[in-house]
Amino acid sequence: MTTALITHPDCLNHLTPDGHPERVARLEALLPALEGKDLLRVRAPLAEDDDLLLAHPADYLDTIRAAAPDRGIKQLDPDTWMSPGSLNAALRAAGGAVRAVDMVLAGEADNAFVACRPPGHHAETRSPMGFCLFGNVAIAAKHALERHGLERVAIVDFDVHHGNGTQDLVQSDGRILFVSTHQMPLYPGTGAPSETGPHGTVLNIALDEGTEGPAYRHILTETILPRLRAFRPELLILSSGFDAHAEDPLAGVALADEDFAFITDQLCALAAEVCAGRVVSCLEGGYDLGALVSSGSLHVDRLIAAAG
Ligand code: ZN
Repeated sequence: MTTALITHPDCLNHLTPDGHPERVARLEALLPALEGKDLLRVRAPLAEDDDLLLAHPADYLDTIRAAAPDRGIKQLDPDTWMSPGSLNAALRAAGGAVRAVDMVLAGEADNAFVACRPPGHHAETRSPMGFCLFGNVAIAAKHALERHGLERVAIVDFDVHHGNGTQDLVQSDGRILFVSTHQMPLYPGTGAPSETGPHGTVLNIALDEGTEGPAYRHILTETILPRLRAFRPELLILSSGFDAHAEDPLAGVALADEDFAFITDQLCALAAEVCAGRVVSCLEGGYDLGALVSSGSLHVDRLIAAAG
């Protein structure tokens, strides 16, 4: 009967340069739109090292800690920056995803939305990338397997960019099904349908530029849902990017607000069928503030409806 909203003010302290799409204003726009909704509000904890080590090696944690600047903004890769507040923001994003899994598996919430930043799905095992420092959803999936004893977890990444980082972090574990829909060609260039992973548990679906709602819905219902149903996950984790929206400036897929509602409804219905409705949704991209607010808000409304 409950949808948890997990966030933390620290996520507003991850600063990026002027003009950078992944900016504080995203959460400053989205969070007020979620006020007044029937949500169990939870502060995201800081991830522990043991959480991060589920997905990243110890020397990578050392590298990120060492990279954190005392002042100013430091560039880690062409798109990825750290400010003095970035480390804690990233630890909240990963810790929030872990907390969401704990809550949903304990029955403290039916489902959860983790509204943190920086996002995570481009962070690879040993590389920050594409605005991302830690692989939040991969960490959450491994946490569910290693600490809660689940045997199968599915991740669906509907961000318009390929979740290369998540794929890198989870594809060697056949207990995790990773599904990503993404525009191709587009950053980061990976995610061809031929990339199926060593266990055949990666499903990459390339979208043409200009793909609209009806075509996306067909892919979801005819390809993705049957694959999820066959895999029978015990938990469904979503990499929820809203940059496949027609208004988004970074890509050319043309989904509408209602398509994100449809995606959420369909995935929640599938979860109700196979895993008691257990869904953990983590914010990834979405760079047009109006579209992020309208589609992200609808996504949360549909999570609430599914829980209710
Ligand atoms: Zn994206």
